[in-house]
Amino acid sequence: MSDFLINISSSKKYQLINITGQVLDCLKKSKTKEGFLIVFVPHSTCALIANEDEEGVKEDILERIKALAPDKNYQHNRIDNNAQAHIIASILGPSLTFPIKNGEIVRGTWQDIFLVELDGPRSLRKVVVKIIYNLTAQI
Ligand code: ZN
Repeated sequence: MSDFLINISSSKKYQLINITGQVLDCLKKSKTKEGFLIVFVPHSTCALIANEDEEGVKEDILERIKALAPDKNYQHNRIDNNAQAHIIASILGPSLTFPIKNGEIVRGTWQDIFLVELDGPRSLRKVVVKIIYNLTAQI
């Protein structure tokens, strides 16, 4: 089992931040050949997705993500005015899991890992990476 923590900062209210390089560095450091890699954000106003790092599709994704919670008088906005971020984060989810095979995560050619900022800018978003070895494969 290996645990890593990645620190990310965001600069916009809504933003897709490619964290693939940092996640792959964790896998490299762990020297794991077979198992699972879990990426998790311990926050209720950001999320994770796996998709293509292309400007057009990133704009399309952000546009549709914002549409998941249209502007209105949400109950939570009486407290800290970020109900939309909470709602969208709940829909997208806080974690992704990748199989590890031959020392690499199994993913599609166009599946990069993005932190989805929904309530930025934030100076610190934590990303937890946990790597679980397949013990039987290492004997
Ligand atoms: Zn809130």
